[in-house]
Amino acid sequence: MATLIPAGTAGAEGPEPSLPSSSSLTGDTSSWYYTKSASPAGQSVADVAVDRRAWRQARRRFLWRLSKTERVLKCGRCRISADPVIRVQDDRAHYAGLVTCGSIWECPVCEAKIRQARAVEVGEAAARWDQAGRGCYMITLTVPHSAGMSLDRMWSDMTKAMQKCRAGKAYQQLKNRLGIAATATAKETTHGPSGWHPHLHTLVFTTEPCSAEGIAALTLHFSRYWTRAVVGAGYGLPSPVHGVRVDACRSADDAAQYLVKTQDGWNVGSELARGDLKSAQPEHRLPFEILADIERYGLAEDVALWREYEATMPGKRAIVWSRYYREVLGMTATEMTDEELAAAEVGGETIAVLSPDCWDGIWTAGLDTAVLEAAEAGGLDAINLLLHRHHIPLATPHEPQCDSFSSRLGAR
Ligand SMILES: [Zn+2]
Repeated sequence: MATLIPAGTAGAEGPEPSLPSSSSLTGDTSSWYYTKSASPAGQSVADVAVDRRAWRQARRRFLWRLSKTERVLKCGRCRISADPVIRVQDDRAHYAGLVTCGSIWECPVCEAKIRQARAVEVGEAAARWDQAGRGCYMITLTVPHSAGMSLDRMWSDMTKAMQKCRAGKAYQQLKNRLGIAATATAKETTHGPSGWHPHLHTLVFTTEPCSAEGIAALTLHFSRYWTRAVVGAGYGLPSPVHGVRVDACRSADDAAQYLVKTQDGWNVGSELARGDLKSAQPEHRLPFEILADIERYGLAEDVALWREYEATMPGKRAIVWSRYYREVLGMTATEMTDEELAAAEVGGETIAVLSPDCWDGIWTAGLDTAVLEAAEAGGLDAINLLLHRHHIPLATPHEPQCDSFSSRLGAR
């Protein structure tokens, strides 16, 4: 399998990545995994991606003031090379030579890049699994909750409940009966009128498509053991509709988007708004939407929510796989950490070199996104026109002697 994003120079931010369509993953459009992405009316996917980059970078700029995590405070702001550069790849500009925090929970920019790469990987694995005539199912699990309940406590209880669902003889029998070969469980958190709403999304890969009886057995097992564990931990009875839900996976995109969602309300890859959350539960906010509201309204209760979130989530694994999943699912590429994915260099042509004074002028004026947009619209001349207007030292062209800089970056 091809490497998703070529590993290379550390510290390169990279552009907002794009998810290959399902058809490009396989070169085949005949099976269920082929789904076609659509963009919001009147706007191309590329335009939406640029908007999303601006939104995420704006939230990150706000985190430079709000975050209590040192790496997040430095992400996309502090230099790791003497002179950062701007590179253009496929008409998209990005910076190289800046710190990346690699925090999937706290940084909207790094999160998008990490989840994008994971989504590609999951989508490819699901497509291969389907091509081999096997089955893939999605289980959603949540607990009854109310305003004021501790997010940390709920995650702790849910993690234990999940372990109980997957322990013992009954689960072994279910595994053997359905041919469960691998599972992957992702964490997701929203907040609404009833407080934090943490939920688990589990993908179940089976060696054969399940019969109706098999799906019923899967549902029954998780309903029984999840309910028992959750009630035992002091919660009410999980909702018969939302507590435990099992759905068949209908596309590779289904699998990828189900498991790997960004925490700002937008799907990775297709750059479509999270219609499921936004239309069905308009009062529910994802963590980065809470962050945006803090910036906009400055409510103390939102700051308290964000503080609780940033104290709870870092250190938790966003996706937990079953053992040997890479061998089982034929994922041959070396597994990369979140930090490696966030820092992966995507290459491109270097069009501008930014001196320390130039870069300091750009980020202190909050122009990091505007400079990238200028680079995409008109190259170095457009960048310098913008910088000149803001009385910021100009960027310089990439001179031959700068090759040694590129070499130094590449050697790290
Ligand atoms: Zn970051």
